[in-house]
Amino acid sequence: MQSERKTSIDFNDTEVAFRDHSTNSLKQICVLFKVMNNRALMNLSKHLVDFAFTVGLPVKGLVKKTLYRHFVGGTSIEDSIKVVERLARRNVCSIMDYAQEGEESEDMFDATCREVIRTVEFARNHARVPFSVFKITGVGRLGLLSKVSEGHVLTGEEHAEYRRIEARVEAIFKRGYELGVPVMIDAEQTWIQPVLDNMVMGMMALYNKERAIVQNTYQMYRHDSMDRLKQHHRMSIEGGFKFGLKIVRGAYMEKERERALAMGYHSPIQPDKASTDRDFNEVIRYMLKHVETIDFMVATHNEESSLLLAGLIDEQGLPRDHPSIYFAQLYGMSDHITYHLADRGYNVAKYVPYGEVRTMMPYLFRRVEENSSVKGQSSRELSMIRAELRRRKSPTLIS
Ligand SMILES: Cc1cc2nc3c(=O)[nH]c(=O)nc-3n(C[C@H](O)[C@H](O)[C@H](O)COP(=O)(O)OP(=O)(O)OC[C@H]3O[C@@H](n4cnc5c(N)ncnc54)[C@H](O)[C@@H]3O)c2cc1C
Repeated sequence: MQSERKTSIDFNDTEVAFRDHSTNSLKQICVLFKVMNNRALMNLSKHLVDFAFTVGLPVKGLVKKTLYRHFVGGTSIEDSIKVVERLARRNVCSIMDYAQEGEESEDMFDATCREVIRTVEFARNHARVPFSVFKITGVGRLGLLSKVSEGHVLTGEEHAEYRRIEARVEAIFKRGYELGVPVMIDAEQTWIQPVLDNMVMGMMALYNKERAIVQNTYQMYRHDSMDRLKQHHRMSIEGGFKFGLKIVRGAYMEKERERALAMGYHSPIQPDKASTDRDFNEVIRYMLKHVETIDFMVATHNEESSLLLAGLIDEQGLPRDHPSIYFAQLYGMSDHITYHLADRGYNVAKYVPYGEVRTMMPYLFRRVEENSSVKGQSSRELSMIRAELRRRKSPTLIS
């Protein structure tokens, strides 16, 4: 099948990217990004906000009106529905991301498991919510997952605890299977990935006979990800089940390198950004070539990789809304990519995190970190917002 379509997306066309924002709201976002651009100020704010929460100062309102409003869907699924519906009006899908981080207790793990199951049930009832997602450290203790991954002998108690983690993971995927909602598991630290891979491949064999309900994540900043991914793909073909996954570049680079250095093992991270980019883009080509046996999501804010996938879909004459292919970005970031892709009919989703203000703080400060300036230049987001404000002031001059 050959296509007549040409992929002509201009990510610099800010009108499409910001069409859901009034000029007033854009001005507010501009101020927010300007503040975030100031690394020194943000470092100071992080400590001040941490301190304020600790001693009970009323910062919640301020955070809620600024960072939280821009990057978070709401305090609960119900509270986030307005965001889901706003995105849906522009053909953008949502993936509800319950962002509970930090606390490690059995009660909390059970509660998170129940909440993730609620996101699966929510997705079942919303056409524009195609997946659910969760982190294994939301339902199990990092220390124990590391111990199992590294092959240490467990005590009887630890065995029981590990069984409870498996039971939670299975309960989530099982609910996805019952309701026909694909569920993705995020990738985290490389040193817990062996146990995760084991569990997830087992669940794929169980639940992916007809379609890819269980989906893993591959971080292409790992130099072994390409081989692992291909090996898992082969396993799925031999096992007669569908392979489901998302690819990301990877979010824990500094921690990974520091740990490898401190513990004296070879870093699992690629030597440079170009190597990560090369593998990321090569995997896009590989997955497209095997789209009959792979359901995949390309989760990135990288314009080049997004254009690559969009162009290949068109070149191969595949429908832009092919059910096995999704793009994804985070809510509040790279709207120029999301909205342009949705506008052209590609499948694209936003991760919409939700949770109480206090529990969202680690997530919010990671977004701040990504948007603050390293060398004094404006972040891409800030430049785009400024361009759109200029365009609105004199629309005929720019265009
Ligand atoms: C929808 C969504 C879901 C996500 N889920 C996950 C997840 O489950 N697990 C996870 O780890 N991350 C996840 N991320 C974050 C992701 O891994 C990246 O950190 C983030 O998206 C930035 O990468 P990029 O492709 O968007 O853009 P880019 O700006 O092109 O890439 C930045 C990334 O390149 C890599 N990189 C930068 N410098 C170097 C270097 N010197 N050497 C090697 N590599 C380098 C790093 O991974 C860095 O984050 C997710 C992101 C999105 C949008």
